[in-house]
Amino acid sequence: MRLRRAARVILIGAPGVGKGTQSERLLRRFPQLQSISSGDLLRQNVKDRTPLGIKVESTMKAGGLVSDDLMVRLVSNELFKRGWIKGQGPPPVMTLASASAAGPDALPTSPEESIIDSILNAAGPRGDAHPPPEASECPSASFLLDGFPRTAAQAATLDRIVPINLVVSIKTPVEVIMERIASRWVHEPSGRIYNTTFNKPKVAGRDDVTGEPLIQRPDDSAEVFRARFDKFEETSRPLLEHYGARGVLWEVSGMSSDEISPELFRRFEEEFVN
Ligand code: AMP
Repeated sequence: MRLRRAARVILIGAPGVGKGTQSERLLRRFPQLQSISSGDLLRQNVKDRTPLGIKVESTMKAGGLVSDDLMVRLVSNELFKRGWIKGQGPPPVMTLASASAAGPDALPTSPEESIIDSILNAAGPRGDAHPPPEASECPSASFLLDGFPRTAAQAATLDRIVPINLVVSIKTPVEVIMERIASRWVHEPSGRIYNTTFNKPKVAGRDDVTGEPLIQRPDDSAEVFRARFDKFEETSRPLLEHYGARGVLWEVSGMSSDEISPELFRRFEEEFVN
């Protein structure tokens, strides 16, 4: 189905809620839509051994959050690269004061970087920010952001870079997610996933193709999951409040991905097709 307006969408959902499944389904139904996952961008940088990748590797390994500044730079850079936003007006002039405040390593190397730099540095009331980039209204400049923003500070900066027009909060009761995870078995070497409720292996505890034993991942254990879920609830609250106040938040709830998808499609059609 073709979009008539540019969709600039953020998906927010707890681990295990099926955010990945919904993203895939949305991309299939609306081919003009593309997805940007901040976790994937970071992992690619780590793999390519870029300066940013080297910088963030230990934070990621420890399960911490990468700094807001770095994340904003990384995602904005991707938006510029894909042509979904572009700078307007003359490039900002780098003053000696702003250069020294940013530090010798932080000198921007492109007009796009200096725009983001000036937005990031214009925190105070007297901050003299460059005009915000211009977002393309072409439907092919439609995107789903996954994993970014994660904090209210990231969201506030993103507001100054690109206007998000829909924030989807996907909800499933925690007990339902926990039950789903408890019945998930994996064939480690191939990554094949089984579910003892709706996708059973032919022989209990064995991979259909190789006959090798299936395991449950340690991060699928109930306690580990519960801790991740609680952390998500805590960090996503300010984010949801931020977008609630801006009037772009929409909540969809259901017991399964199949229940949620039709609702999500309907909302997309209302918002970006009709
Ligand atoms: P994910 O694949 O979304 O779970 O992200 C993997 C890791 O990348 C996270 O555990 C964080 O260390 C880092 N990360 C991804 N997105 C962000 C973000 N928006 N802010 C801070 N750190 C992030």
